[in-house]
Amino acid sequence: LLLCCLAALTEATYMKYKDPKQPLGVRIKDLMRRMTLAEKIGQMTQIERTVATPDAMKNYFIGSVLSGGGSVPAQKATPETWIEMVNTIQKASLSTRLGIPMIYGIDAVHGHNNVYKATIFPHNIGLGVTRDPNLVKRIGEATALEVRATGIPYAFAPCIAVCRDPRWGRCYESYSEDHKIVQMMTEIITGLQGGLPVHSKKGVPFVAGKNKVAACAKHYVGDGGTTKGINENNTVISWNGLLSIHMPAYFNSIAKGVATIMTSYSSWNGKKMHANHDLVTDFLKNKLKFRGFVISDWQGLDRITSPPHANYSYSVEAGVGAGIDMVMVPYNFTEFIDDLTYQVKNNIIPMSRIDDAVKRILRVKFVMGLFENPMADNSLVNQLGSQEHRELAREAVRKSLVLLKNGESADKPLLPLPKKATKILVAGTHADNLGYQCGGWTITWQGLGGNDLTTGTTILQAVKNTVDSSTQVVYSENPDAGFVKSGEFSYAIVVVGEPPYAETYGDSLNLTISEPGPNTIYNVCGSVKCVVVVISGRPVVVQPFVSSIDALVAAWLPGTEGQGVADVLFGDYGFTGKLARTWFKTVDQLPMNVGDPHYDPLFPFGFGLTTKPTHQN
Ligand code: BGC
Repeated sequence: LLLCCLAALTEATYMKYKDPKQPLGVRIKDLMRRMTLAEKIGQMTQIERTVATPDAMKNYFIGSVLSGGGSVPAQKATPETWIEMVNTIQKASLSTRLGIPMIYGIDAVHGHNNVYKATIFPHNIGLGVTRDPNLVKRIGEATALEVRATGIPYAFAPCIAVCRDPRWGRCYESYSEDHKIVQMMTEIITGLQGGLPVHSKKGVPFVAGKNKVAACAKHYVGDGGTTKGINENNTVISWNGLLSIHMPAYFNSIAKGVATIMTSYSSWNGKKMHANHDLVTDFLKNKLKFRGFVISDWQGLDRITSPPHANYSYSVEAGVGAGIDMVMVPYNFTEFIDDLTYQVKNNIIPMSRIDDAVKRILRVKFVMGLFENPMADNSLVNQLGSQEHRELAREAVRKSLVLLKNGESADKPLLPLPKKATKILVAGTHADNLGYQCGGWTITWQGLGGNDLTTGTTILQAVKNTVDSSTQVVYSENPDAGFVKSGEFSYAIVVVGEPPYAETYGDSLNLTISEPGPNTIYNVCGSVKCVVVVISGRPVVVQPFVSSIDALVAAWLPGTEGQGVADVLFGDYGFTGKLARTWFKTVDQLPMNVGDPHYDPLFPFGFGLTTKPTHQN
């Protein structure tokens, strides 16, 4: 009797799963056998921070919380505010019976982009141009530190979409139309999570502790291949096409130990990816041996039906049944929990499916040390927007620029521009606009115009920082036809492009430079030698004016460090970038990708002129 009671006592006090010396499998198994159905389903539920009250966390055993699409605790919130918010939620989770920590996630897709004063790196479209895996690895490392600086251990990045049609509003989240470049760029996962130990088992998630974050390869799979680039639409392609274009970057991500994978809103040949058992369970989990967890997209289960949320219990059955482990923001999270509970109790969804999901979620949480270090402290706050990270972003900007035209002929180049000149003009809607430089997914979901949203350097400021003190810089956002008098300016820099956008709001059939950009080009470039710098999330229509301007630079969405643009325009560094996308002549050529039979671009994939630096650094 005594022995039995002693054993019971030890059992009650010694929780194997809490002991980091126990092997991973033992910890998962020990915790799983203690969990009720409600606790398990709670782990599978991810809710918005705005509804993550301590009561909700405790009563529903919620496994994860997020700031979706730029949901910030306060305008210009400090890292300390973020930490306090995350810790408050975490405390509630830790106070539950089993004390399982929640995991907080955020869209850190070009740096820690929801957070004021964070370093904003170029969007992926610019990084693809660099074809530099070591650069994106370092960006991943910096991003992990900045995300952790605010107490957050999980980033919904990278987007490894292979954008096949620039009419897609998420094209800028894609590194390239070429899957080989996207594959190369999955090296950002190594930066975010840390380098996989040599003897790791294939597919096992890996996150190297407190200065790293769990990554999320998204959106599985074929998100960049939808018809006409319509967001969340249907990707019509053969199995071989899917396998050879859209799938390869997932092979690399899994090989790098990616912790999570997000399913795509889109369909493959008419079947919603959120309900695709063949691709999520049979292929991703069983064939590719992915051992991390699969997370749905925001209300992704709801959107299995059209209209969304039309038949939610069907959606739950189809989505969880397909193999989704964590459900991001169900339209109504208690409804999700109720539906799933009912379905398990009535054998509609087998208990083994729930156990598979929860094991995967716990595996990630254990592997990354969340049980040992659930609470954030202030020790990393100085990492946010640090000088070192800004230098790295500036380097990335320099390498992401593509020089598309430089003077009438190679022997008469306009660039690099001289720093010493009497008077120069900087013009255009995008010349002095930090928000436009950053694009969508910056502070807010859709992004914002203006210089107040965060801290950084606009191109105008960068030009002023770079030119000789004797050079007079005149700025005009929208000069009219008479503004430029002949002989008044030595040269002009015209910066125009697209306004910020994200997701479906960015879908576009005409891909034009926003007004009055084309007018500005016309008014300025007719009267003075000019370089046009295009700030855009994709190739845009330039053919009508390209012959009448002197130089053309694609700067994509460079982020906060506009100084990188001036570094290259004025020759401190050379242009090196090569297009990672095809630049079309007219939109009716789309979709058009390298390798297509009737390939007739304005600037082909891989194109990019170079300049030599004129100054020693
Ligand atoms: C996007 C995802 C994103 C999620 C959370 C969705 O609308 O498709 O890429 O991670 O929102 O913000």
